Amino acid sequence: MDDATRRWLALQRDLGGDEVILDAPPAVAESLAAREREPAWRRGAPPIPGPGLDVGSEHATRLDAARGWADLDDIATVVRACTRCALCGSRTNAVPGEGNSTARLMLVGEGPGESEDLSGRPFVGRAGELLDRILASVGVPRADAYIANVVKCRPPRNRVPLPEERDACLPYLRRQIELVKPAVLVALGGTAAEALLGVKRPLTELRLKVHRWNGIPLIVTYHPAALLRNPNWKRPAWDDIRIARQLVDRRP
Ligand code: URA
Ligand code: SF4
Repeated sequence: MDDATRRWLALQRDLGGDEVILDAPPAVAESLAAREREPAWRRGAPPIPGPGLDVGSEHATRLDAARGWADLDDIATVVRACTRCALCGSRTNAVPGEGNSTARLMLVGEGPGESEDLSGRPFVGRAGELLDRILASVGVPRADAYIANVVKCRPPRNRVPLPEERDACLPYLRRQIELVKPAVLVALGGTAAEALLGVKRPLTELRLKVHRWNGIPLIVTYHPAALLRNPNWKRPAWDDIRIARQLVDRRP
């Protein structure tokens, strides 16, 4: 028996097949089986790009006011009572974040919008529905991920959070990342990218690189709300999430 045949028979066994189709050339059968096992999102996915910025603990801890919040529930409790910035005055509900506390994939948005402010949950409006579909397209149910925002209270009329609001709120996000310890971070839009990477650059310059935040690979992509306004960005955004998804598979 040659090697290819041996491998093919082993594959049949692994796949639970008890029927050996003797006339299928092993190489063809093997590639067909491999194709069948490959999830749809993986086909034609872009290769993992090269390294980008490496944000070490220096930037990350510069903003650190984390006082050793023990777990995600602790943070949520503190956030709901927080008055560290002026956004506390106009919130209906703070939106601490939600999801799997040991998620492999963690997504970071900008801040709550109206639906989020009313419900106290991140990404539940139209942008959230799109985000759910994006996650599903790479085989990640929303509940498997962790979803948070840079600021936990809604800025008036959904304006971009001010630098002082962002900096006041970042210790919560930082501690959330430390606690969840995701394999991969995704910054959704410029505000999240800027807050995490500590630089202000056009999104197009930050995409398609594997940045690092305290060692954790970080991918920058469009904000789902931007995708609703500009559907041409959906395809590149899908590429970004497929890169992130491959990185999830790659990390132990
Ligand atoms: N946009 C965000 O950035 N975050 C949300 O939670 C909802 C919309
Ligand atoms: Fe506190 Fe953040 Fe809300 Fe500001 S946005 S009040 S820092 S939780």
